[in-house]
Amino acid sequence: MTETVTNWAGNITYTAKEVHRPHSLDALRALVADSARVRVLGSGHSFNEIADPGADGALLSLAALPPRIDVDATARTVRVGGGVRYAELARRVHEHGLALPNMASLPHISVAGSVATGTHGSGVGNGSLASAVREVELVTADGSTVVIGRGDPRFGGAVTSLGALGVVTALTLDLEPAFEVEQHLFTELPLQGLDFETVAASAYSVSLFTDWRAPGFRQVWLKRRTDQPLPGFPWAAPATEKLHPVPGMPAVNCTEQFGVPGPWHERLPHFRAEFTPSSGAELQSEYLMPRPYALDALHALDAIRATVAPVLQTCEVRTVAADEQWLSPAYGRDTVAVHFTWVEDTAAVLPVVRRVEEALAGFEARPHWGKVFTAPAAELWKRYPRLGDFRALARELDPRGKFANAFVRDVLDGRTGRG
Ligand SMILES: Cc1cc2nc3c(=O)[nH]c(=O)nc-3n(C[C@H](O)[C@H](O)[C@H](O)COP(=O)(O)OP(=O)(O)OC[C@H]3O[C@@H](n4cnc5c(N)ncnc54)[C@H](O)[C@@H]3O)c2cc1C
Repeated sequence: MTETVTNWAGNITYTAKEVHRPHSLDALRALVADSARVRVLGSGHSFNEIADPGADGALLSLAALPPRIDVDATARTVRVGGGVRYAELARRVHEHGLALPNMASLPHISVAGSVATGTHGSGVGNGSLASAVREVELVTADGSTVVIGRGDPRFGGAVTSLGALGVVTALTLDLEPAFEVEQHLFTELPLQGLDFETVAASAYSVSLFTDWRAPGFRQVWLKRRTDQPLPGFPWAAPATEKLHPVPGMPAVNCTEQFGVPGPWHERLPHFRAEFTPSSGAELQSEYLMPRPYALDALHALDAIRATVAPVLQTCEVRTVAADEQWLSPAYGRDTVAVHFTWVEDTAAVLPVVRRVEEALAGFEARPHWGKVFTAPAAELWKRYPRLGDFRALARELDPRGKFANAFVRDVLDGRTGRG
């Protein structure tokens, strides 16, 4: 490859033989039709090889395409180009007095890349970001365009698609009227006696953070919509200073706290668009389980916290409402998501990732597609009941496997492990 391209974290160097940044859809179609193997790179925020086409493939970035964002205020929808990031999308949608229902912890990520991996925020009533998508436009292997919308029997496989069906050139998303949110932070929530269901439902979006150096949670972030009641939170003390989820990092990187109301897109993410999100030097893993397992899963992690804490920067517990994307980690079940921001040291982190996966083995944990995991494909087939339907759809739209890389082939063939 003439140019070195890495992911955001820097732990993956893509091995593609060439990198393309087409300036027009016609050029993109021609490139796809003429290439033997292609993967699209979104904003590169995944922590594994999911976007890597391999040494015989081409990496395609949509960053040079015109950044289309077309809001239909009457229909309350937005059609967004395949390279656009949430930060630009959210600003534009807000200008029209409209909102997305939820956002991830950061607005820096591309919309197409996020929904492709099942990216989510928090909230017992909030689905993954893919659940706002109503239509997908794809450039498929021969360079032609396929549009798949809600109601099409293929739709369940079309949004959270691991980039395996084609190039997503546009997505249409549902919007709702703009709303305001306040963030209320608390400290030191005990794990002993935790009423997880009540705590998780106590605001529109709730996140619990711990470093696992001691039992319980160091921080609780409640994101309350100002059109919903202000919750009492008797289980922990209100924070006395602004906080960053990673202990010791500057809170100035974070969205406004202390109950100051503000627009949805400046409160739902934890991190501000103009600063480095999270710690900036890290690996991440995440496991999503049926919500009724939440307390048992948290106690199972508490039992191994002496192993976890030395390589951990922070651990975040969120909830996601069930959705209908076949490969969504929240497919068909209301979910608790346990996320780990690790230190930036693959050799030290991988054994601990395996230990976490063992601890969570009894809880039907589905790994986040965009983060570090070691679960072999045979396990993924047990945990994602619609993988067979997805494989059939991938073969229908991409019979020669032009968009399948080693990561996707491992998952779809169900043979090999990845740890
Ligand atoms: C600091 C940080 C915080 C994070 N916070 C969260 C969080 O709060 N919640 C959460 O769930 N995840 C979170 N993540 C993970 C992140 O959301 C996912 O890795 C997501 O996939 C990133 O989007 P991306 O555009 O960077 O994807 P990439 O890593 O670029 O690509 C991901 C996949 O999407 C495919 N793809 C991208 N664009 C297209 C396209 N146009 N057409 C076809 N395929 C495409 C790629 O081929 C690849 O398979 C976080 C990551 C980081 C680095």
